[in-house]
Amino acid sequence: MTGARPARINLLDIVAADGLPSHAYNDAVNILSQSLSKYNFAIVELPRGDDVLLKCVLDSGRRFFHQRPMPTICHQEDDRIEWNRSSGYYKRHHSLEIYDYRPGLPSDTNNPREHYPPVGLPELFSLLGRAARHLLDAVCSSLDLRSFCFADFLDNAPLKSGEVSSSVLSINCHARSEVPGHFPRSPNTQSTEFSTSHYDTNIEKGLLMLMKSDKPGLRIRDEHGRWILADMDLGPLDMVMCSGLALYHCTAGYINPSLYTFSIDADNVGRCSLSFKLMPRALAVLHCSAMVAAGYGVIGPFQQPLSVCDFMQHAFQSDRTNISRSMISVYPGQQSDGALKVMAKHPRQMSKIKPLAPSKRLRLEAQRVLKEKVQEIADSKGIKIRFCSLKDCEDHHILCEESPCASIRAQIGWPAGVPFVHPHDLPNKSKQAFLEAYEPSSTVLQLGENSSEQ
Ligand SMILES: [Zn+2]
Repeated sequence: MTGARPARINLLDIVAADGLPSHAYNDAVNILSQSLSKYNFAIVELPRGDDVLLKCVLDSGRRFFHQRPMPTICHQEDDRIEWNRSSGYYKRHHSLEIYDYRPGLPSDTNNPREHYPPVGLPELFSLLGRAARHLLDAVCSSLDLRSFCFADFLDNAPLKSGEVSSSVLSINCHARSEVPGHFPRSPNTQSTEFSTSHYDTNIEKGLLMLMKSDKPGLRIRDEHGRWILADMDLGPLDMVMCSGLALYHCTAGYINPSLYTFSIDADNVGRCSLSFKLMPRALAVLHCSAMVAAGYGVIGPFQQPLSVCDFMQHAFQSDRTNISRSMISVYPGQQSDGALKVMAKHPRQMSKIKPLAPSKRLRLEAQRVLKEKVQEIADSKGIKIRFCSLKDCEDHHILCEESPCASIRAQIGWPAGVPFVHPHDLPNKSKQAFLEAYEPSSTVLQLGENSSEQ
């Protein structure tokens, strides 16, 4: 199947403002949360006009790489660079060339004769930095955490005098020196039947990443282990958002890090992309206090605060070996049977060990049931779920027979009288009805205790 794609999120919809949240805000936060849990990435649409700068930087980056002399094959990859010190041009391995813009460091440290660096980097850095911070805050909102609760992990905005940014804007060029024909057999670009055996698998290390490319080639692993071509059919304003390992840690495992790879073949040789990585600042300590304060159970390796320096340097170095090993070494308590399986199971293991407040348990259980049971029913019938806003549905849709959601509700057996919204938004009483409809087991009764509080 090729059609499954996350819905687009308009960045302006998730910009936090004082007062009550708008419907657009709630909808966008829901889409973001569902995209991340289902696809491990989201598609974000920047405000109109931002495409000019985006295109300008990408074009200028492409020219920068394509005008350089071809790197020689015996050229050593530079693996001495620290995670937060890369700047200017360097190579990661024989087929990936990178130009990093990191505010606070001169961009040509390694080569003082770098004459024509890509243009527009400082402007795009601040534009994408702002976008990334809004998205991070929307992730907090989707978990019911306090606003801006991860602000302390981030660089000053703007940087203070003498500070070097941890976040970085990178322009990448893939396989410029490869001879077409020397690639692994070109997979059907839209197919999710894709083997990573010929490609390196990466995990994003920071909090989150925004990515844009001139040709498709970024594949991200979804919840079912399929490799979705994430940057296919991107509009001029669209960027792919991935979540990172640092976010995984400070959300106690509730937001999985995106696992990605680049499929480069004869069709996209010389592919250029730009990525903004929102990184935790080097002197910060990653911890899950915000999750604890919001009532989540935090156990195992997540109880341990981690110095960002150790965490990032460790993760950064181990991505030269492989993902499972890096995950295991970052989280020594995990088993070795495939780190991602362990990650996927984690939230539920936690709720078993340390019970949450009933209302929180109810909500998490409802979200799990949505993800597992309801989605399965919808998939089996080829139905695309599009939730209503709570107010419209509660006040109008569920009371009359002709409503936008009536037929979907009927087809997937949505319980009567329960508004057709994401379980996150359901009033507690409706959550119980929802759980009873889809999972009429004893857990629901246990969850029901004291459920009037919220
Ligand atoms: Zn409705």
